[in-house]
Amino acid sequence: MMSRNLLQERWQQLPESVVRRLQAEQLRRYLRTVVLPFSAHYRELFREHRLDADSIRTLDDLQRLPFTTKSDLLNTPERPQRPKDFIIVPDEKSLVRRPATILRALFRGREGVRKELEAEFRPIFVTFTTGRSAEPTPFVYTQRDLENLAIAARRIADVCTARSEDRLLSTLPFAPHLAFWLAHYAGTTAGVMTLSSGGGKVMGTEGNLRLLRTFKPNVLIGMPTFVYHLLQQAAEEGVRCKGLRAIVLAGEKVSDGLRDKLRGLAAEFGAPNVAVLATYGFTEAKQAWTECPFPHDQPSGGYHLGPDLCIFEVINPQTGQPVPPGQPGELVFTPLEARGSVVLRYRTGDYIDGGLTYEPCPYCGRSLPRLVGNISRRSEIREMALDKIKGTLVDFNELEHVLDDSAHIGSWQVELRKAHDDPLELDELILHVQKLNGTDEAEVSRELNRRCVAQLEISPNRIVFHSGEEMRRLQGVGALLKEQKLVDHRPLTKPAAKPDLSPPIAPNANTTPSTVISGEAVEETAG
Ligand SMILES: [Zn+2]
Repeated sequence: MMSRNLLQERWQQLPESVVRRLQAEQLRRYLRTVVLPFSAHYRELFREHRLDADSIRTLDDLQRLPFTTKSDLLNTPERPQRPKDFIIVPDEKSLVRRPATILRALFRGREGVRKELEAEFRPIFVTFTTGRSAEPTPFVYTQRDLENLAIAARRIADVCTARSEDRLLSTLPFAPHLAFWLAHYAGTTAGVMTLSSGGGKVMGTEGNLRLLRTFKPNVLIGMPTFVYHLLQQAAEEGVRCKGLRAIVLAGEKVSDGLRDKLRGLAAEFGAPNVAVLATYGFTEAKQAWTECPFPHDQPSGGYHLGPDLCIFEVINPQTGQPVPPGQPGELVFTPLEARGSVVLRYRTGDYIDGGLTYEPCPYCGRSLPRLVGNISRRSEIREMALDKIKGTLVDFNELEHVLDDSAHIGSWQVELRKAHDDPLELDELILHVQKLNGTDEAEVSRELNRRCVAQLEISPNRIVFHSGEEMRRLQGVGALLKEQKLVDHRPLTKPAAKPDLSPPIAPNANTTPSTVISGEAVEETAG
C-alpha cells in the first residue's frame, strides 16, 4: 500500500527510476488482486501464455504480455458480447475470503465493506468509442473509476493552470463521450464555475457566441474545428472577450498552424496572450492528459501523464519492440487503477513523433512522464487508387498540417470521391478551403500544390474556394455532433481491378465554383 500512496501523492515529483520501480510494483499488485482473478479475457490469456502477476518484475517485463488491439474488442459471430469479456467481474466468495477483506470487516463492519466493494466493482456509468468503421464499443466505469476520472480531470485543470475565480465554458457536444465528462469534472472538481453549452448542435454558433459575450469565459474548451468557427464569427461580429486566458482543445489533433490561427483570432477580440493547449485521451483509457502553458515561440512540453494511473510504452509498430526514450513510435497503454472495462497493453494506433520522456518539464518543472511531439493516427492513413498500378497510402495527418499551416486559408475540408462518380474510376482528392480576405486564389492554389507534393508526394485534383458561411455548411457546424474535416464519398465496396485507359492524374490547380456537398458521417478520432 505504501508505494501506491507514494506514487499517487507525489505523482508530479518523482524521477524516472522511482516511477518505473513503483509502477512495476503497482502493476504486479493490480494484476494479482484485480485483473487476473476477475477479468475473463486476461485470466485466459495469461494462462495461455503461462504468465502470472510475478512475471512482471520490472517494467521491461511488460513486453512478455501480448498486446490488446481494437479488433480484440469487436463482436464476432462466435463472441457476440466481446466487450463484456474485458469487464472486471469479482467473484464474491473469493473476495470475502481475502485476509484484507476480513481485516476491513473487523474495523468497518460487514455492511461497510459490502458498500466499499460495490463502489469498487459495480458498473454504474458508460461511455462509447466514436467512429464509423466499427460499432461503438462501450466502456463501463464503476464508482472507483469515476473517482479516478475526477482525479485525472482535476490534474488537467491544474496543469492548464485553471484558477478558482475563472469561468469555464465547455462547447464539447453533449454525448456519451469521454471528452465531455472530463471537461465537466475538470471544472467542477477544481472548483471553477463551469458552463457546458453542448456545442454547436445544441445551441448553434449564435448561442455559443452569446455565451462568449455574457458569460465571459476565462477558459474555453471545445473541439478545434468548432472553436475555430466560433472565434472566427466572434471576431467578425466584433465580440469582445478580454478575459480569455486559455483555449483547451479536445477530440481532434491540434497542429501548430491551428494554434497560431486561434491565437490570432483571440487577439482580435481583445485576448492577445491566450494559451492554446491540446489534450490527448481515448475512450479505452477512461482518462486524458494535457499540455501545460508554454511560450508561443517554443515547442510544447507535451502531455503530462499521471504515473499512478497508467503506464505508456512507445513501440516500433512493425516489430512491436519498445523504442529508446525520446524516439517516435506507437503508443501502448496499460491502466494501473481501472475497474469496470480494462484493457492491458492496448495498442492505440496513435503515433507520437517525440516519444516518451521523464525529464522535468522545462515550463512547469513537474517531474513526470510526458509524451512529446505531434500525435498522428493510423486511422487517418488511407489507401487511395491514384493510379492504375497499385493503391497509394495517403497520410492525412500530413495533409492536415499542410492545410493548418497555410496562413492564407481558414477552415478546410478534404473530400475523397471517384472520378465522374464512377465506382470503377480512380480516386480523386479535393480540397475545400475557406478563402480569407485578400487571398489570391491562384497563388494559394500553387502554394498548396507545391507543399502537398513536397510533403505527401501527391497533389490534389481540385482546390475549391469557399466563403466562411459555405465552409460552415460544408462541415456541418451547428448541425452535426462533430464537424467534418475529412469526407469520403467513395462507394464502400472495392471495385474489381480493370485495365484503366484514363490519363494519369496531373497536378492541377483549377478553381472551380464552390459547391455544397452533403456530408455523411466519416470516421472520427477518439474524443
Ligand atoms: Zn509542464
